[in-house]
Amino acid sequence: MKTFTVRTSSREEFVDITDEVEKAVKDSGVKNGVCYLYVPHTTAGITINEGADPSVKKDIINALKKIAPSQAGYLHMEGNADSHIKATLVGSSVIVLIESGNLLLGQWQSIFFCEFDGPRTRKVYLKIIKEEE
Ligand code: ZN
Repeated sequence: MKTFTVRTSSREEFVDITDEVEKAVKDSGVKNGVCYLYVPHTTAGITINEGADPSVKKDIINALKKIAPSQAGYLHMEGNADSHIKATLVGSSVIVLIESGNLLLGQWQSIFFCEFDGPRTRKVYLKIIKEEE
């Protein structure tokens, strides 16, 4: 297993980690298999979506703010209930297939670490499994 560190700089932010994941896949030497990515946090997550137009990640963050506003009579006393809800909505893991040594992402897809209670230093776990031949 490999661990990445992601440093975020605002409370809510999507950080494109596609290049780091691609490098880890190249370094592993695995040509065909799967890459599991897992975020071990309760107020951050991970998702795959459009990386070409930066407006898309902003629209997603704004939509999540409407679903989970910062104040809404939450029971959780820590003041970050909205962060927990957003993390659950995006999820804490993604799987990407590896074909011929490359991540099998669509043309416009990027992998985003999703911060919902930053700025913080965060972790992403990565496990690459080689396909049996
Ligand atoms: Zn909390």
